[in-house]
Amino acid sequence: MKQRLVVATNNRHKAEEIKEMVKDLDFEVLSLADLEIDIDVEEIGSTYAENALIKAMALRDLTGGWILADDSGLEIDALDRAPGIYSARYLGENTPYMIKNSMILDKLTDVEDRSARFVCSIALVFDDGSYWITVNKCEGSISKSIQGGNGFGYDPIFVPEGYSMTFGVLPSEIKNKISHRAKALQAVVQYCKLLTEESYV
Ligand code: IMP
Repeated sequence: MKQRLVVATNNRHKAEEIKEMVKDLDFEVLSLADLEIDIDVEEIGSTYAENALIKAMALRDLTGGWILADDSGLEIDALDRAPGIYSARYLGENTPYMIKNSMILDKLTDVEDRSARFVCSIALVFDDGSYWITVNKCEGSISKSIQGGNGFGYDPIFVPEGYSMTFGVLPSEIKNKISHRAKALQAVVQYCKLLTEESYV
């Protein structure tokens, strides 16, 4: 029987990104939507890793199988690394990203150091309650204008290092190779392969 892996997110974009990236694993990958579970876990941790673990643990009794949860955010150096772990709630949870992004650009008018990074932590919780965590980054900078409609959230204002366009413009194939979440998922896939195929761990 295939190992079940539950992707603990209500965010449809994220669930799709994650499913696409772990398709190499011969696992039964299910999202919360697939399981018709609608749960809103309060992110009370003070780090990405704590929040990822809190989300994964909250699902332990509901789903069975291994649970994968992520917590991510955007850090802008000129804003003292805000919005950080508060990225989803920053400038209002229900404020459209078009407005949030343009408010951020306003805050950065005339700011020269536009360095920023996306950070992603992924927690993997196993049937016995033990867990494994990884934290990964994608360095870049904040653009001068809102560009593109690909992806979600802050993608239209984030230019990854080595590129001249935002994640909002770059095709998803590129984002899925170089993003914070991609790097964290590559680590997850490698670890899961070790666990299931090699029996080294
Ligand atoms: P989380 O769902 O609690 O991890 O919140 C992450 C928040 O960070 C999202 O709601 C977005 O605002 C932002 N974020 C994280 N990853 C990305 C990304 O890949 N693109 C754009 N925004 C992101």
